[in-house]
Amino acid sequence: MRMKIIDGKELAQNLRSEIAAGVASLKAQKGIVPGLAVILVGDNPASVSYVTAKEKACEQVGILSREIRLPATTLESNLLSLINELNADSAIHGILVQLPLPTHISEKAVIGAIAPEKDVDGFTPVNVGRMLIGEECFLPCAPHGIVKLIEASGINANGKHAVVIGRSNIVGKPVAALLARKETNATVTLCHTGTRDLERFTRQADIVVVAAGRPGTLTGEMLKPGAVVIDVGVNRIADSTRRKGFRLSGDADFESCAKVAGAITPVPGGVGPMTITMLLWNTLESAKRC
Ligand code: NAP
Repeated sequence: MRMKIIDGKELAQNLRSEIAAGVASLKAQKGIVPGLAVILVGDNPASVSYVTAKEKACEQVGILSREIRLPATTLESNLLSLINELNADSAIHGILVQLPLPTHISEKAVIGAIAPEKDVDGFTPVNVGRMLIGEECFLPCAPHGIVKLIEASGINANGKHAVVIGRSNIVGKPVAALLARKETNATVTLCHTGTRDLERFTRQADIVVVAAGRPGTLTGEMLKPGAVVIDVGVNRIADSTRRKGFRLSGDADFESCAKVAGAITPVPGGVGPMTITMLLWNTLESAKRC
């Protein structure tokens, strides 16, 4: 059996063409241009590069991005006031606060302040709750992108055993919830650092989603032959041979996993482009509801 590389870039590009057409038609029919406010507090290099990529993607599909860069010393109260202003701004259909925030600012308070109808990251308790009970909501972007990637790759998760490594609120828990929905219908095991003998679970998995934030968390010896590997991890590994001084690595050891897996997402070029695409998707959906 030939191993398949799941090309997130290609699928993302196709979806972005659809989104661009949707943006153009909304503008033509209702005179509405979707607007996304992107707030970055501080200058964490990874966050700066994510925000830049999101802004470029907005431009590519015709969404207006309003970039708001604030110093790392910004007070939580000032950030909350800004979010309140954006909640009331009719030109803004989506609000994104790039995480992580400086430690003196409560992420919980900031996310909770975003109006659920502008929460295009799908992180507010209202949208998370709606997702869990199957009501219409903004789905969180990385988990939504992962499910789309699995479907578009012709992988039928119905009845399959999916093992998710990582239980964060933004990736692990929501992706487990989406895979377990009736329409996807996988049987899901959620693993974390308290899991005893991780390999015992991954070896039984038809699909492994790894979102641990640690390179080498998943290796080929931990897989059942033919398993699908979705690698969410984005880790910067120091590499003096690269212009930027680092290279990106996922959480799966690509070389050993590719020898055993039936399909695998690369890093970069797998989940990442889909995550940004689902942000554009949610922003367009939000503008359509106006
Ligand atoms: P996080 O908040 O640090 O959560 C990591 C999770 O992995 C935790 O639940 C942790 O367990 C678990 N974990 C860590 N090491 C483990 C191990 N050896 N065995 C089992 N479980 C382990 O990270 P996150 O925000 O979910 O992000 C995960 C990775 O995805 C990061 O590399 C991040 O950069 C990347 N990411 C990528 C995208 C994208 O679009 N490609 C989007 C979001 C995040 P405990 O709960 O027990 O500590």
